[in-house]
Amino acid sequence: MSDSNLHAVIAGAGIGGLTAALALAKAGARVSLYERAPLLEEAGAGLQLGPNATRVLRDLGILEQVQRHASTPELLRLRRARDGQELARMPLGPVAELRWGAPYLSIHRADLQRVLLEACAGERHITVNTGTSVAGFADNSTGIEVALRSGEDTQRLHADVLIAADGLRSQHRALLALGSNDQPVWSGRTAWRALLPMDDAPAALRKLETNLWLGAKSHLVHYPLRGGTLVNIVAITEDDWRGEEAADLWAISGEPTQVAPRFAQWHRDARTLVERVGVWKRWPLFDRNPMRRWSLGRVALLGDAAHPMLPFFAQGAAQAIEDAAALGQAMRNAQNVPAALSAYERARSARAQAVVLASRRQGTIYHMSGPLAFARDLTLRSLTAQSFMAKVDWLYKG
Ligand SMILES: Cc1cc2nc3c(=O)[nH]c(=O)nc-3n(C[C@H](O)[C@H](O)[C@H](O)COP(=O)(O)OP(=O)(O)OC[C@H]3O[C@@H](n4cnc5c(N)ncnc54)[C@H](O)[C@@H]3O)c2cc1C
Repeated sequence: MSDSNLHAVIAGAGIGGLTAALALAKAGARVSLYERAPLLEEAGAGLQLGPNATRVLRDLGILEQVQRHASTPELLRLRRARDGQELARMPLGPVAELRWGAPYLSIHRADLQRVLLEACAGERHITVNTGTSVAGFADNSTGIEVALRSGEDTQRLHADVLIAADGLRSQHRALLALGSNDQPVWSGRTAWRALLPMDDAPAALRKLETNLWLGAKSHLVHYPLRGGTLVNIVAITEDDWRGEEAADLWAISGEPTQVAPRFAQWHRDARTLVERVGVWKRWPLFDRNPMRRWSLGRVALLGDAAHPMLPFFAQGAAQAIEDAAALGQAMRNAQNVPAALSAYERARSARAQAVVLASRRQGTIYHMSGPLAFARDLTLRSLTAQSFMAKVDWLYKG
């Protein structure tokens, strides 16, 4: 960045906002990050971090810290729900690192958030303010006036650029009105999420592996967390619940009786894993139709605010991390903020759009039943480790 005093305001301290703060500070900006939640709590569950994300974390100098809290699954195994038969496997661990130049990790979202927060605390040009919402902005030729709301108080702040990393229901996306009929799109699916001590998992599943079980109209993913002491479980079912009544989505619980019966016909190991969960978190799944434009003047969207996606490629946070890297790069030598934000948008929008659409397709493929599932399984069984890896090169090479 030509002007080392360039002042960036970021709305939202999720994975996207925190990574963007680091990338912008490294590009020479002064960053004020505002998070509406009073505390950054132990929210969420596991995240898989593909090599496209860990490569950025390495460039930001925090991969080692992330790895201290992460697990490295040895392989991804796809299985048929009914009888547990293996359909395909892809090596992860060192093979993935060699092929894609960065590791494939799984980590608790709260651990990743903490590492990012500590890294931000170590940067003297970043301040992180919780309990404060970015409540509006006025863009003018000399800069941007940002309204900050904290309880009953509203303050105004002058900045050069506003990055809205405020999630799926981004109020800034609504204010920018960059797309027509731009609303969250309901997927008709619920994600049930849980953590279980690894020792409570069925013996056959106590492994450093990511398993993906494919059933009719449902699938189940589980992978190790915290050095393999925990297993993260995500069960996806078709559902008509949209979570509209929920003020805080992280806080919605589900009863075992709402989940276990849906897996009653599954292979013993998958069924037992699901039955051993005491409390589920329930999460309605939405994405949005991709938009070509993510920025207007001195404001740009980032992460789920720009491209919320269904989690079937495990790429939402990874794409937010990629955004952060591209934003840092675009702002590094920027003479003109709106032009730099347009460059960021150009660098990112086609790729993010491809991942949003591929994630939708993947959900359809995972939930096939009858002859379609039979054909899918035949195709999966024909995959070698090499051909399986080649199919995801486009994602992980970044
Ligand atoms: C079931 C499930 C499994 C997933 N698994 C994976 C996975 O394995 N790998 C992966 O990469 N991704 C995964 N994802 C996706 C990933 O969780 C999200 O894409 C990612 O967390 C989005 O981060 P974000 O920072 O863009 O948004 P968010 O995490 O939504 O953060 C937005 C932040 O902005 C704050 N905020 C909102 N409005 C304001 C305001 N006006 N002012 C200030 N602050 C504000 C919010 O409080 C919040 O803290 C999964 C998602 C789901 C639902």
